[in-house]
Amino acid sequence: MLTRTNVKNGQELSILGFGCMRLPNKAGIFDESRCIHMIRTAIENGVNYFDTAYIYHAGKNEILLGKALEGPWRERVNIATKLPVYMVGRLQTAKKMFESELTRLMTDSIDYYLLHMLTDYPMFLRMKEIGVIEWLEKKKREGVIRNLGFSFHGSKNAFREILTAYPWDFCQIQYNYLDENNQAGKEGLMLAASLGIPVIVMEPIRGGMLANQVPETIRRIFDRSGKQRSMAEWALRWVWDHKEVTVVLSGMSDEAQLSENIRIAQDAKPESLTAEERMLYERVKKELASRTKVPCTGCGYCMPCPFGVDIPGCFSRYNEKFLIPQKHTRMKYLQALGIFSEKPGYASVCTQCGRCESHCPQHIAIRQELKKVRKTFEGPLFGAMVRIGRSFLRIRKPSG
Ligand code: SF4
Ligand code: SF4
Repeated sequence: MLTRTNVKNGQELSILGFGCMRLPNKAGIFDESRCIHMIRTAIENGVNYFDTAYIYHAGKNEILLGKALEGPWRERVNIATKLPVYMVGRLQTAKKMFESELTRLMTDSIDYYLLHMLTDYPMFLRMKEIGVIEWLEKKKREGVIRNLGFSFHGSKNAFREILTAYPWDFCQIQYNYLDENNQAGKEGLMLAASLGIPVIVMEPIRGGMLANQVPETIRRIFDRSGKQRSMAEWALRWVWDHKEVTVVLSGMSDEAQLSENIRIAQDAKPESLTAEERMLYERVKKELASRTKVPCTGCGYCMPCPFGVDIPGCFSRYNEKFLIPQKHTRMKYLQALGIFSEKPGYASVCTQCGRCESHCPQHIAIRQELKKVRKTFEGPLFGAMVRIGRSFLRIRKPSG
């Protein structure tokens, strides 16, 4: 197992991190002995970074990981888990959640603790205002938290704002060859690297999409290499090729995925792709672009929208819907564009003021295209869906 150095603390981390969210389960019920065996097999093969969260499987995921790491296993690994900031309205709530995470994980310290799913700067600010950040710093001084970071799903600008607002120990972003210019994107990755902030990558295969849902034309491009690689391997190698990436989290759902990933992580060094392989990725990106409805490159020159529309985020979700067949696109749109935020960036927020359009180097008729995005994702019941979703997630305001 290759490792990369955490540039902030000098720790050697396995380049493959185990995303526990996708451990084999049926409707949240785990085959416990099988999952524990997978986790320990990963450790025996050098994986030393395990990622879970307070909300995964309503807490059962942390409990499972705690059981798998009982005894001597714990000291061989780093546990990363997360505080669901969108459910935290008061400091006391955060404290309770953190204590229950320690209990579930059967540990007295968390190696990598993240503010979960920040999508915009006000979410971070709110945590500051209610005293969560100060309290987390105290936990760090006490050694109960070793590294403090955040996971991110928002726009490039929001990423920059959050990243530069605090001396983070690390951050976690979505990154893969389909998302090179989406969310934090390559620009965000490079910014973090320039600030000396280690980057953990999530969704390298886009929740499995780049493994088993890629169109046939893209498969054929990769097949031209003559190399016997799965689509998942092509996706993972692309991410690991970036020297700015420290750990790549993969959500492994069976033993075959685990052993494939362990095999790839033996030799996926930074900048190890050949010139020919790089050309294949370029062709794949061109093919993806040719299937794209709105030619948005995610450059962000049109941002910020004075009314809060996440313009590139809207187009990214819209393009993706037509690019690769997938389920739950409306839910993904809801999540990516603001259900966790106090100021959502949905297409319907657009007032058609037109201020953005002159800044777009692709000359996109942003207002017209946003109308199509709205029609595609936001039906008459959209407002009700947002309200129900937010109340289900118990999203709170500072005074709550
Ligand atoms: S046209 Fe819409 S997206 Fe563009 S700046 Fe105005 S409100 Fe924002
Ligand atoms: S300026 Fe144009 S290409 Fe760039 S993010 Fe905005 S809409 Fe997309």
